[in-house]
Amino acid sequence: MEKIDLHIHTVYSDGTYTPGEVVKKAKEIGLVAISITDHDSVEGVEEALQAGREFGVEVVPGVEMSSDVDHDEIHILGYYLDFKKKEFLSKLDYFQKIRIERNERLFRRLEELGMPVSSEEVLKLAPKGVVSRLHIARCMVEKKYVSSIDEAFEEWLNPGKPAYVERERISPFEVINLILEAEGVPVFAHPFLSRRDDLIPKMIDAGLMGIEVYHSTHDEKTVKHYMEIAKRYDLLITGGSDCHGEAKDEVLMGKVDVPVSVLWELKKAKAKLAQRVREV
Ligand code: AMP
Ligand code: MN
Ligand code: MN
Ligand code: MN
Repeated sequence: MEKIDLHIHTVYSDGTYTPGEVVKKAKEIGLVAISITDHDSVEGVEEALQAGREFGVEVVPGVEMSSDVDHDEIHILGYYLDFKKKEFLSKLDYFQKIRIERNERLFRRLEELGMPVSSEEVLKLAPKGVVSRLHIARCMVEKKYVSSIDEAFEEWLNPGKPAYVERERISPFEVINLILEAEGVPVFAHPFLSRRDDLIPKMIDAGLMGIEVYHSTHDEKTVKHYMEIAKRYDLLITGGSDCHGEAKDEVLMGKVDVPVSVLWELKKAKAKLAQRVREV
């Protein structure tokens, strides 16, 4: 069976491989298509497309954007978006500014908690400047404040824990709209992690087109559950490993079975979207 992986991070956010390395490894493990979905950044897309042509791996332009509802985080993937669109890029700049501002408060909080981490130390792990809590967790492990990344999140960085600081809030509906404005296909990422199935109808009203049914945190039962939701609401099914290279315990690329038919349906959805854009 031909396999694909539509959820992969690179050094342009909190992954450890460059886009070129991702494509090369994808080829080695026999994936026919991948998507680069960095947090709030599309800077790695062009490089991935180029490597894709070189290695014969199809590359889908993508992004993963964070949003908030109540005390829950909702991540929205955007596929086949116009990653050169100026208005969209300036929105991503704004999202990155929000991250920087959140991180500064997070560093202050860690210092108060007796676990100082400097932005220089973190930036060594985030060469392209988009810093996530995963970088900060890795730094906390390096500095021996905690013994694992899991411990960093479970004891300190998760919502409700002492080092958690909120970002300026942006709603998933707004993010869905931004992705649509960039002519991308908006997809609810790893819904099991958010546990907010109740929001799906409202997100569909806002323009949500798909749901990430296959993901490294979804067991068989969860896949079945979201497959049913996808059918009920006529949503596109997508899937990926959420590989962060070597930043997590395991290199996940290609370790979630995603059938290539997912890509065909995604392409059809993009074509419909492009048609709608031409009509208005
Ligand atoms: P941020 O975007 O800065 O809020 O950071 C969120 C990122 O941290 C996610 O994209 C994951 O890569 C990572 N993350 C969140 N929770 C965990 C966890 N329990 N273990 C490992 N990584 C996590
Ligand atoms: Mn991440
Ligand atoms: Mn995510
Ligand atoms: Mn992700």
